[in-house]
Amino acid sequence: MEKKEFKSESKRLLDLMINSIYTNKDIFLRELISNASDALDKLYYRSLTDELDISKDELEINLAFDKDKRTITISDNGIGMTKEELEENLGTIAKSGSLSFKEDMTGDEKANIIGQFGVGFYSAFMVSKKIEVTTKALDSDDSYKWESEGVDGYSITKAKKKDRGTEIVLYIKDDTDTDDYSKYLDQYELKNLVKKYSDYISFPIKMECSHEHLVDEKKKKYETHTEIETLNSMVPIWKKDKNEVSDEDYDNFYMDKFSDYDKPLKVITSNVEGMVSFKSLLFIPSHAPYDYYTQDYEKGLSLYSNGVLIMDKCSDLLPDYFSFVKGVVDSEDLSLNISREVLQESHSLKLIAKNIESKIRKELETMMKDDREQYESFFKTFGVQLKYGVYNNFGADRDKLKDLVMFYSCKHDKLISLDEYVKNMKDDQKEIYYAAGSNINKIKSLPQVERVTDKEYDVLLLTDYVDEFCITAIQEYDSKKFMNVVSEDLDLDTEEEKEKLKKANEKSEDMFKAMSDLLPEVDEVKFSNSLGKHPVSLTTKGDVSIEMQKVFDAMPNDMGIKAKMILEINEKHPIGKKMKKLFKEDKKEFEKFTKILYSEARIIAGLPIDNPTEISSLICDVISK
Ligand code: ADP
Repeated sequence: MEKKEFKSESKRLLDLMINSIYTNKDIFLRELISNASDALDKLYYRSLTDELDISKDELEINLAFDKDKRTITISDNGIGMTKEELEENLGTIAKSGSLSFKEDMTGDEKANIIGQFGVGFYSAFMVSKKIEVTTKALDSDDSYKWESEGVDGYSITKAKKKDRGTEIVLYIKDDTDTDDYSKYLDQYELKNLVKKYSDYISFPIKMECSHEHLVDEKKKKYETHTEIETLNSMVPIWKKDKNEVSDEDYDNFYMDKFSDYDKPLKVITSNVEGMVSFKSLLFIPSHAPYDYYTQDYEKGLSLYSNGVLIMDKCSDLLPDYFSFVKGVVDSEDLSLNISREVLQESHSLKLIAKNIESKIRKELETMMKDDREQYESFFKTFGVQLKYGVYNNFGADRDKLKDLVMFYSCKHDKLISLDEYVKNMKDDQKEIYYAAGSNINKIKSLPQVERVTDKEYDVLLLTDYVDEFCITAIQEYDSKKFMNVVSEDLDLDTEEEKEKLKKANEKSEDMFKAMSDLLPEVDEVKFSNSLGKHPVSLTTKGDVSIEMQKVFDAMPNDMGIKAKMILEINEKHPIGKKMKKLFKEDKKEFEKFTKILYSEARIIAGLPIDNPTEISSLICDVISK
């Protein structure tokens, strides 16, 4: 018999699993039942589309145990697996190949890794020393047996299974000082586990149960009789009355169905009747799925037609900006034997999607108002996605999302909404001020920010690379325009100050021209009133700010988008006088100073210096005089 090795990452994951760092061993049963239910769903769906002669009534999951042999058997008459599918599905655990294992991981880190991949079939190794999977696929005459004792590998041999479907036999581990595995070899324990985790499964989970009856009271004589019982109520959780379902039931359903090790942050239920009728049960995860920000992530909701799964991840039901939402939608108005292409065009599906989008949005708006702590937690995890949604598609969805985004307030030292900003604006304040940079403290210390906060206006401090794009897409909020505090358009001076500055600038026009000739990237050089104690600063004019420029620079292909940069010099700083003097008396020194000042301004703006050796020798020249 040929023994095959697991792929190396799978091996390590399996090792973690077997060495039982996942504390909740009970979940092995729900994982196997859920796989069996999927296999039945797939078969039933095939029977509808391919018109096979299979009735839903004959589809079932069977559970059995043998105390003496220490085995638990889970079988289904679902779609089964071919030899290739067995190899593919049970030979690899971690499909993505991007697992990062470290030496000396803590228990939490290990649980996290397992959690990330969904515990799945392999969780059965937490309680089993050996597993046998015998399976016969629909349309196949042959059957195969996969067996494995864990990390050492597995083998696949031909089997003699008569009926279609899959049978899994778990050989339960021996008890240890710390772990009682024998408890699973008990009818009440198994019944409880099914009730707790798998009650909603839409196929019957049957088990032969024995009951003792007192037949003779005097002699205390009991008789045992057995009968096949269906252990689950079979009503999908989303079809149950909300009052009958506990928070824990929803959490368990979510963790099972969407393979998350954490409870959801928010559960959203709805029952819509009208043009199109449907029930939905949606969840906002409490943390981003491990692959959320990768290309592998697939958004979508599970779509059911009256309890029968028709599509596992229907992406048309969710806009990209809510791609983190998980859940199920069940509608009687969708025909079962419908192809994906037709489904996409379906009017009902579009109505459902629209309804779901607005339901999620309203729930989030309510959360923001009524439970700020929860909303902040949500926003820290998925806020980027909302901000991305604002500017995506040329801002088409910005009005739907602008009340859901938050930015960091300089005045309040916390995240606030645009509505809150505007409500707190001072009477004489016309615009919404913001400043961007790599972190809060850096932005707070920008001279231009100080100048605005001195007037007791609040400034939104933007640290996410999407923030400025988002704000640019919103354009204005409550008829108030956004104003970057480092923009040359910032207008905080009094008329008198403006006049004075204008004169000073006019007087030095020649000098500024000479400076900008020396600095090809600089559009304009001028004096400024807005620098406080700082000697120089870079600002921009037009649509592209310095922070946006950084984002463009980081993109793989040069898009040729450049910020229009202005070098501002503090008129009141001694360097202003010095420059005027040098311009008249020493052109060579003037040139050096110009280059050094520009480099300083770049450093403050967080931009790289292209010619660091030249600049450092210039500085040495100047300071060693
Ligand atoms: P997941 O269910 O998250 O895909 P699992 O490790 O639990 O991951 O299972 C891997 C795959 O093995 C399943 O996706 C399915 O294709 C197949 N499989 C598992 N159990 C069964 C079963 N009882 N019948 C048919 N296929 C199954």
